[in-house]
Amino acid sequence: MAQYTMQQYEAMRQASSNQGNKELPKIHFMKEYLDKDGDFAIVRFPYTSMADLVYESVHHVNGVFPNAPYGKNVSCSGDDNCPLCKSADPEVSKKTMRFYAKFIVYTQENGQVVLNPTIWDRPSAFGDVDLKNLMTEYGDLTNYLFKVVRSGSKTDTRYNIIPVLNKAVYPDNQYVRDFTVLKDIDAVKICTKSIAQYNAIVNPQPEAAQTVETSQTTQANTAQVQTQQVETQVVNQPAQQAAQTVAQTTTNVQPTQTNTQPTQTNTTGTPRYRF
Ligand SMILES: [Zn+2]
Repeated sequence: MAQYTMQQYEAMRQASSNQGNKELPKIHFMKEYLDKDGDFAIVRFPYTSMADLVYESVHHVNGVFPNAPYGKNVSCSGDDNCPLCKSADPEVSKKTMRFYAKFIVYTQENGQVVLNPTIWDRPSAFGDVDLKNLMTEYGDLTNYLFKVVRSGSKTDTRYNIIPVLNKAVYPDNQYVRDFTVLKDIDAVKICTKSIAQYNAIVNPQPEAAQTVETSQTTQANTAQVQTQQVETQVVNQPAQQAAQTVAQTTTNVQPTQTNTQPTQTNTTGTPRYRF
């Protein structure tokens, strides 16, 4: 199944729009809906059983990725090639399990119910405690609407998830059980960096740009606009030059990094853990 990073997805949306095709839905993040105390969202999870819950083992890295004042989570490669596992800094070598949830948030716009594909970066307990409890009670979660309610703020924030059973207020024919908009969205790739992306910054390789071009062409569904963008990058930014730029400063490499990273994530298997 084809899966895309946020940058790829946005390029596809743009290409789709340019061609007059039906535009791909915009990906949302749960913080848009749960910004402050008392906010809530009406959601439907695509999880039929605990077997559908996939966790990701990550390292938290500060001071490496640009425009990331709070650092970034990097997916552990799960093998001897993970430089972060070998870090002398215990804060970096430490791995934590995250659950990158994706689900539908329903909103009302101009009297119509809209299905918004939404991502939520959560601790693993969201899966093996919160969702597990819901499954124990309700079984297949796809059959139910849930209301996620935020209480509190900052570090004292909790989220309660309660079933929405009032069909008069939330009728099935409007709050439809349709997960099509979640197709091809890889929440892990959108929320984390890969080891390849990490290496591209801390230990740039001259052949990095060519790797992008090769892997780019192997993606059957890649939008034309996106391909052109990447190829332009490769031409305008020779690998050697790109590597030197990275070596000189990490603050000025953002454009190059942004365009070369998405496909590199495909070259490294990301560990998934099924419970
Ligand atoms: Zn690791």
